[in-house]
Amino acid sequence: MEIRTFPDPVLRKLATKVDNITDEIVRFSENMLETMIAAHGAGLAANQVGAPMQLIIIDASLTEQKKHLAILNPFIVEADMEEVGEEGCLSLPGYYEFVKRASKVLARGIDLSGKTLEFECQGQFARAMQHEIDHLNGVLFIDHLSPVKKNIFKKKYAGPAK
Ligand code: ZN
Repeated sequence: MEIRTFPDPVLRKLATKVDNITDEIVRFSENMLETMIAAHGAGLAANQVGAPMQLIIIDASLTEQKKHLAILNPFIVEADMEEVGEEGCLSLPGYYEFVKRASKVLARGIDLSGKTLEFECQGQFARAMQHEIDHLNGVLFIDHLSPVKKNIFKKKYAGPAK
């Protein structure tokens, strides 16, 4: 799959809820997982591969069970504490910046079998969960930067390497 990069407008679309878990959705999430692994990403939202639906993938290394996650219709139930950490994004290749996020979040969503799941996330897992859910709302991590840093981004970001 092709990973869409800033300023592709699909990255600003509000993702729609997934009501029906079809075989197509399951295959799509498998393709997203392969795409994320090939790109060495820690997470991927469906918007980033051009499909604005509420589906995110999170890399196994960040999770408590060390299993890759595919979560449909995820949202943050509770967020607590704050922490500044460095972030990057497959849709903003080569650009990294420090972003303030909640350091503990409770997230809810459903898995590919339709089961409701809850995740108590901390640290990098919490950061990735917030980052990917942001994507579903058309939000990129650069939106969380101060005006000064946003200006630096505009000057420095060259787009994907050709
Ligand atoms: Zn991202």
